[in-house]
Amino acid sequence: MLHIGCHLSATKGYLAMGKDALKINADTFQFFTRNPRGGKAKEIKESDVAAFLELAQAHQFTYILAHAPYTMNACSADESVRQFSCEMMADDLRRMEYLPGNFYNFHPGSHVGQGIDVGIAQITQQLNTVMKPEQHTTILLETMAGKGSEIGSRFEELRRVIDGVHLPEKVGVCLDTCHIYDAGYDIVTDLDAVLDEFDDVLGLDKLKAVHLNDSMNLMGSHKDRHAPIGKGTLGLSAICALINHPRLKNLFFILETPHDTLEGYGQEIVMLRECYKEG
Ligand code: FE
Ligand code: FE
Ligand code: ZN
Repeated sequence: MLHIGCHLSATKGYLAMGKDALKINADTFQFFTRNPRGGKAKEIKESDVAAFLELAQAHQFTYILAHAPYTMNACSADESVRQFSCEMMADDLRRMEYLPGNFYNFHPGSHVGQGIDVGIAQITQQLNTVMKPEQHTTILLETMAGKGSEIGSRFEELRRVIDGVHLPEKVGVCLDTCHIYDAGYDIVTDLDAVLDEFDDVLGLDKLKAVHLNDSMNLMGSHKDRHAPIGKGTLGLSAICALINHPRLKNLFFILETPHDTLEGYGQEIVMLRECYKEG
């Protein structure tokens, strides 16, 4: 069974997201933990969470994925920004405990000229400050396109972050198909080699979720512009091969493709379910 969903607006709460997911035959979704540009998060309503959990159980949802705001930059050169990032992540993780056992994805950060070594040390430091042995959420580092000074466009950089954390068993990776292609990993003509490399550097057991996006740009462009499924440089056949790959097919996939309506995601889900082979 293909576990798939899309990014949804969180403004109406968890139950509303669950209902939207059902409308498009999804069994998961992603949402921002707060306004993507940062700011204060809405407090969780326990009745909303309870209603969502009931719906998720009744419809056999898989894991859901929270996404940190884009303003988070654990390796900003500005100490007050790093402090703010750290506080946002700690607060997000606290609220994630209402939905134990799920995943929290963040962009490792942009070192803005401080260099990769300093950046990685600051990201590691943020994780070590916010993570608690008793937390029930796995934090995912997102693979990045390598735009500007972004850290995380090479598997080795993610490995170094994970090597520096005190609770590595609570840290995993979310692979964004647009980002890794833009970063130069050839998932169109040699997916097996890319997965072998991921396995060698990070271990495939660290791969917990996939952001399924086509790309508007060529491999290695470092651009990060998502395209609808089948309408970009990856193309439908490469994407179908990816969701059917024996080492990936049991993960869950989140669409972050550009659409104005839920229906746009719904059509992609129909198409992807059609090309998915059970078993
Ligand atoms: Fe992201
Ligand atoms: Fe993504
Ligand atoms: Zn992106």
